[in-house]
Amino acid sequence: MDSLIDTADSAAMATPAAPADEVSAILAAAEPLAREAVVEFSGDTVGAYLGMSIEDDAAATHRFLATLPGYHGWQWAVVVAAYPGAEHATVSEVVLVPGPTALLAPPWVPWEQRVKPGDLGPGDLLAPLPDDPRLVPGFLATGDPLIDDTARDIGFGRRRVLSAFGRDDAAQRWHDGDFGPAAPMARSTKRICRDCGFMAPLAGALGVMFGVCCNEMSADGHVVDLFYGCGAHSDTPAPAGSGSPAYEPYDDGVLEVVEVERAVVVEAADAEPIAEVVEERVVEDVPAPPEPGPEQPAEDV
Ligand code: SF4
Repeated sequence: MDSLIDTADSAAMATPAAPADEVSAILAAAEPLAREAVVEFSGDTVGAYLGMSIEDDAAATHRFLATLPGYHGWQWAVVVAAYPGAEHATVSEVVLVPGPTALLAPPWVPWEQRVKPGDLGPGDLLAPLPDDPRLVPGFLATGDPLIDDTARDIGFGRRRVLSAFGRDDAAQRWHDGDFGPAAPMARSTKRICRDCGFMAPLAGALGVMFGVCCNEMSADGHVVDLFYGCGAHSDTPAPAGSGSPAYEPYDDGVLEVVEVERAVVVEAADAEPIAEVVEERVVEDVPAPPEPGPEQPAEDV
């Protein structure tokens, strides 16, 4: 029964009753009254009339373009009301509403969703979320140095420690990141961090997949996937030879600059197609190029 009542109520809300003709005429004639209400409410900030819409059997809304600075596309909406037998309408409400082209503020985003990696600066405070899944409770220190020194090594003695979720999350992020096996640097070499003398392995479960690079010429201080790699691997062989270029240098200082003048002579319209005369002037003091010798095979460069 309730659902039937709810359905009937919803239908009634969706299609408000239309006002009687006499009320409708009074509501439509209230446009000047609505404009005055806006002026009284907000000064001379009301622009062109945009029309009227019926709200129910006793109310209608007149809309005007707002001319408020900073509210481009917004509209003044003035609700007027009248009852059957009334002599004039009255103003119920004056509100500023966004129109279809209104400039709107971006939707609100909670701060914890807005903060991104890299946003934290010196002096900033960023507490973990109350139920941060990356953390689980740790064990408090006992006060016994023999136990506590050992406990600290394996993470006890802290109020919270990394959870399995937090560990997996970090491992996946590192694996997919700039120092994972799919990074362009790793894909361009066959040597991997697992075999590199500059890699210091991590302790614990993360050490199965990750270490820290200690090569200042490469990923120094970054956690690297054991299957990441770079050209500064400790087993990279020294270059063979003296390192001189494979070919003789080409001296472009011997190039000869030659000026070329072009003149276009246009004949009569009915004559042959435009003849182009090209005059070339060679700089006089440039020595002539040497005569080519007997034909030789091209040099393989
Ligand atoms: S030097 Fe290169 S290969 Fe060696 S640990 Fe660092 S990143 Fe890995």
